[in-house]
Amino acid sequence: MTCVVCDRAMRPKRATPADYPGTVPLGHHGMCSGCARRRARGVSGPAGTYDPAYVVGEVDHLIGTDEPDNIARRLGYGHLDSLTSVLTRQHRHDLVERLTRTEQLA
Ligand SMILES: [Zn+2]
Repeated sequence: MTCVVCDRAMRPKRATPADYPGTVPLGHHGMCSGCARRRARGVSGPAGTYDPAYVVGEVDHLIGTDEPDNIARRLGYGHLDSLTSVLTRQHRHDLVERLTRTEQLA
């Protein structure tokens, strides 16, 4: 079962990420919870496709306050690698380095 908007695999209600690695929670109307929430706010498009400038600003703000994986998830990315590739495309190698350095310390 995949989300009709972002095409990510969804896990059944009450299932945990440990049971279904790499899945997102089921939302409504064939959408994952992220896309359903996004739709409820009146924003179209798949969850996790934020304006890169917004993502850069949020990472700059959140860095050091949470685990890098959690920061990625809070910004709608399933994995840290997805977030760092966005930062790399924005030429923010400094943020990538700070994120990955934090991870090594954790
Ligand atoms: Zn989705």
